[in-house]
Amino acid sequence: MSAPSTLRVVVDRDLCEGNARCVKVAPTVFRVDDEDRLEILLEAPPPELRDAVEQAIAVCPRQALRLADAT
Ligand code: SF4
Repeated sequence: MSAPSTLRVVVDRDLCEGNARCVKVAPTVFRVDDEDRLEILLEAPPPELRDAVEQAIAVCPRQALRLADAT
């Protein structure tokens, strides 16, 4: 029996170029500030946002995002 895992979103800031594609897909999870710096609003998004987070990972042109298992 396995416990439900908690999602955690991780960004590689060396790769991220702040073009905000992830923000368009998951605006409740990601935000880009005035200096094009990515902010993760929800580092541990609830399971219902998993699809949106996975889409954001898929559209990121820099492969800067990934999901980590926080359990
Ligand atoms: S889509 Fe990727 S490169 Fe663009 S802001 Fe989001 S994490 Fe950064």
